[in-house]
Amino acid sequence: MQQLSKRTAGFTDSVIRRMTRISNQYQAVNLSQGFPDFDPPKEILDRLAQVAHEDFHQYSITWGAQNFREALAAKQSGLMGKEIDPNGEIVVTCGSTEAMMAAMLTVTNPGDKVIVFSPFYENYGADTILSGAEPIYVNLYPPAFNFRPEELEAAFKQKPKALVLCNPSNPCGKVFKREELDYIAELARKYDTYVITDEVYEHIVYEPHQHIYFASLPGMWERTISCSSLSKTYSITGWRLGYIIAPQEIIDVAKKVHDFLTVGAAAPLQEAVIPGLRFGQSYYDELREKYTSKKNLFLKGLDEIGLVHTNPEGAYYVLLDISEFGYESDLTFCEVLAEKVGVGAVPGSSFFREPVNHLIRLHFAKKDETLYEALNRLESIRKKM
Ligand code: GLN
Repeated sequence: MQQLSKRTAGFTDSVIRRMTRISNQYQAVNLSQGFPDFDPPKEILDRLAQVAHEDFHQYSITWGAQNFREALAAKQSGLMGKEIDPNGEIVVTCGSTEAMMAAMLTVTNPGDKVIVFSPFYENYGADTILSGAEPIYVNLYPPAFNFRPEELEAAFKQKPKALVLCNPSNPCGKVFKREELDYIAELARKYDTYVITDEVYEHIVYEPHQHIYFASLPGMWERTISCSSLSKTYSITGWRLGYIIAPQEIIDVAKKVHDFLTVGAAAPLQEAVIPGLRFGQSYYDELREKYTSKKNLFLKGLDEIGLVHTNPEGAYYVLLDISEFGYESDLTFCEVLAEKVGVGAVPGSSFFREPVNHLIRLHFAKKDETLYEALNRLESIRKKM
């Protein structure tokens, strides 16, 4: 038999998704793969029940149902400070996962370089490999996870085609400040580079931090491919609804890539989420409050146990320092943690280009009772690990 594709030879499975399977195997409280265990908003669920009996069972328009795009354009125009054309400037995708892949295939040729900050969400590595591009990693240094301007410029000097910007950032919880974004913008202009954003945590940002849309910076609309999703904002990660927003010339190409990749996102689900897209500001304020309270609850619990952790500015992850346990492999640590302590986590090494094995990632997008249960179990961590 001939060998399968060289392109996929270096692939492992996703460690994030693997840890969910391991958590299930040991009935661990799963704080690995980031998804909530509480319900989506009632208005969305009520509409979903109705939609079952309406005429939404066939394909929508490949780049997204008209009324979904109109509702999304109305919401994002206000946030991004620019009138977004629902017909020319949006493609609806199967989650932000497809949005990022389609964006990468739209922008890059095989052999092109793409800047990725490390730590990074693990899909970006796979996205670059699948599109034949080559990542240039630029470190974000703890505790604030700032980049060094000279290192970023050195990466730009290698003439990358694009930079991937995950903001708010998974896994480190960084929310990029205006000066940092301005500096990236200056370099993107100087070296003529596209910026592909992943903004799925756009509404999960903690005071006093504010999310700034990269596309809203002066002169950046033209070169920004904004990717995001409804998964985190409306607690519907299983619905796989994401999107790309960009200028029409880019979207014209992204529409074709998306069409041949997946044809389209699920039509009934696009229809059912529209009441959510029409929520007023109070929904997003409450979402922020809800996650702020979960963050406070969880971090306080970790402090009481004496575990050293990051303090996220956005998104819903913490990185926990496990140096004191003396494990050589953070993957082994996470497997033992799921089995012996009963808590699922993701090994930090799956997010870093550099050899890091002293961190694990936990998330707190869970009911308070689930978080208390996890903290309860973590109390015995020093006895069991
Ligand atoms: N973004 C989530 C995480 O990092 C999960 C995304 C996914 O598995 N598709 O855990």
